[in-house]
Amino acid sequence: MEGWSMFTFIVGLCILFVGVSFTIIGSFRMKMNYFLKGIHQLPVNENREIYITFDDGPHPDFTPKILALLERYNAKATFFCIGKNIEKHPDVFLEIIQQGHLIGNHSYLHSNNYGFLSTKAVEEDIVKTQQIIARLTGCENKLFRPPFGVTNPNIARAVKKINLKTIGWSIRSYDTIAKSPEMVTEKINKKIKSGAIILLHDTSQLTVEVLEQLLISFESKSFNAKTLSLLIK
Ligand SMILES: [Zn+2]
Repeated sequence: MEGWSMFTFIVGLCILFVGVSFTIIGSFRMKMNYFLKGIHQLPVNENREIYITFDDGPHPDFTPKILALLERYNAKATFFCIGKNIEKHPDVFLEIIQQGHLIGNHSYLHSNNYGFLSTKAVEEDIVKTQQIIARLTGCENKLFRPPFGVTNPNIARAVKKINLKTIGWSIRSYDTIAKSPEMVTEKINKKIKSGAIILLHDTSQLTVEVLEQLLISFESKSFNAKTLSLLIK
């Protein structure tokens, strides 16, 4: 190859590499807002409001324990539910709403290959859960959190078409892989400030223990745990 065309070739390769890297990173880092504009945090506020969110329920054992704790500490939260789990445990799902918490759509299947589905497949998956929620509550759900926080152009198109708000998080707890509740609580307490959106999962005993420690510490710091209902007004 001549010197000049070799140079063009290398520049072209570099541009391709950067483009592909951004696409891959963008797919898995929802915070970059690369494909899908999501809400990850609310403004710091005088009322010291914070927003606890739970993904992957409703769960027949752990969601009721979490609801009992939230009630005891007078805290509210938002539950991003998986459609197939709502179908299995509609009574637990309705209890979440009855206790004044907010719910959101977290897909129907929570498929491991969510990032590789077509726009149509994503749309059908989300709509299926929208219909289950509408049937049980009589209300149209407005919030969506993608499984694993993964976004890409197909998911972005589907979400836009259904007209949902995408919700991310500012504090990820890693409660599904943590070894001890103390580790999770400490990590969250280090990052907590008003306006924070905290990601937890109502699917394990560890998270139940994390939640109790968190609610005690939030109370001592005068934080108020609220639902994300201000986003749907
Ligand atoms: Zn999930």
